[in-house]
Amino acid sequence: MTKRAPETLAATALGWIDSQTDAMAAPLRPSTSFLRDPTDLGRTGRMFTRDDNPTFAQPEALINALEGGAGCLLFGSGMAAIISVFQRLSPGDHVVLPKLLYSGLRDWINIHGLRWGLTATYVDTCTPTCLQAAIIPGKTKLIWLETPSNPTWSITDIAAACACAHAAGALVAIDNTVATPILTRPIEHGADIVLHSCSKYLNGHGDLIGGAVVVAKGHDALLSDLQKIRNEYGAVLGSFEAWLLLRGMRTLALRVKAASETALKVARALENTPLVQEVLYPGLESHPDHPIAARQMHGGFGGMLSFRVKGGEVAAKEVASKVQVFRQAISFGSTESVIEHRAGMEKPDSPTPRDMLRVSIGLEHSDDLIADLHQALAAVEQELARTDKNV
Ligand SMILES: *Cc1c(COP(=O)(O)O)cnc(C)c1O
Repeated sequence: MTKRAPETLAATALGWIDSQTDAMAAPLRPSTSFLRDPTDLGRTGRMFTRDDNPTFAQPEALINALEGGAGCLLFGSGMAAIISVFQRLSPGDHVVLPKLLYSGLRDWINIHGLRWGLTATYVDTCTPTCLQAAIIPGKTKLIWLETPSNPTWSITDIAAACACAHAAGALVAIDNTVATPILTRPIEHGADIVLHSCSKYLNGHGDLIGGAVVVAKGHDALLSDLQKIRNEYGAVLGSFEAWLLLRGMRTLALRVKAASETALKVARALENTPLVQEVLYPGLESHPDHPIAARQMHGGFGGMLSFRVKGGEVAAKEVASKVQVFRQAISFGSTESVIEHRAGMEKPDSPTPRDMLRVSIGLEHSDDLIADLHQALAAVEQELARTDKNV
C-alpha cells in the first residue's frame, strides 16, 4: 500500500468500506458470541467477544498504522493495557521506570507489582548514563518510558534509551499517551512496545475509557501473549467504546495540532506573568529538554503543560479555584481545557512539586484561555499582596 500521512490515515479510518452494505462508517457489532460451523469450529476465527470482537478490528488497525506497528490490541482502559505488559513478566524480573511518570503506574508497581515479585528501579530516564547504571544485566527485562512525561513533560531520547536497553537484552515500552503518534512515533526510534490511554487524545472527547498496546515487528509471540492476557484477565474493551474510539480518532491530527499550537501560546504568555515561578513545556526554549523534543517530536510539542506558582501550594490551589474557562478536573486530551493541582491527586510519596498546576489545553480560542489564567493569577497576586501588608 502507498505510504499515507497520519492525517489521511486517521481522517479516512484507513478507507475501510463495509463489504455487506457499502457503508462508509463502521458498524457497531455488540454480539458476544459467534456462530460455529457444523463441525463446531469458529467460522470467522471468532468465538466470544472477551477474546475478540469485529468492532475492535478497525480502531486496532488504525492505531497500528499510525504507530507503524506489527499489531495492536485494545484494552478496557489505559491501565489494563499497561498492566498486561507487566503481567507477562515473571517473579524476579527487574524493570526500570522514570522517577516522574503517570502516577497510576507507580502506584500499581508499588502496591501490586512488588508484591508479585517484580523489582523496580526509578531513575532519571532522560539521562542515558542514569538509565545505563540502573540496568542489571540478565535481570532487567523491561525499560518503561513516558515522553513527554507526567507531570513535568521531560523528554527522553528514545533512540538512546533503546540502544542501552537492547544491548542488555531488555525490551523498551513507551507510554505515548501524551505525544500521540501525530507528534512522536516511538517504534521509528527503536521502541518494542507502545502504550496508549485511549481515554485521552486518541478518543479526544472525554467520553470513554480505553487503552491500546502496539507491538513492533518481530514480536509476534509478545502480541499473542498479550491477547491471551487480555482474554484471561478479562481486560477487554466494550464494542460500543471501540466504535466510539474510531469515530473520535478521525479528527485526531487536527485536534492534536490545534492543542499544541494553543499550548505554545499559553506557555509563552505564562512565562511573562509575575506570579508564575516556572513554566514547564517542552516547546519552550527554556525547557531543559527542548533540544531533544525539537529533534524527536514533529508538528508540535503537545497540549500538556505545567506551571509553578510563586506563593507555593496554597497559592497554586487558589489559582486553580479561580479559573472560569478552564475546568478544575482530572484527565486530559479532551476538547475542553482542564487545570489540576496534580500533587494533591497523587499519593503522599509523590515527587510532583506541590506548587505546580497541570494544564491540558483543549480546543478553545487561545485568547480566552490566556485571559482566564491571567485573571486567576492576578486575583491571587492581589490577595497575596494584601495579606503581606497585614502581616
Ligand atoms: C490516563 C493515563 C493512563 C491511564 O489510562 P486510563 O485510560 O485512565 O486507564 C496511563 N498513562 C498516561 C500517561 C495517562 O495519562
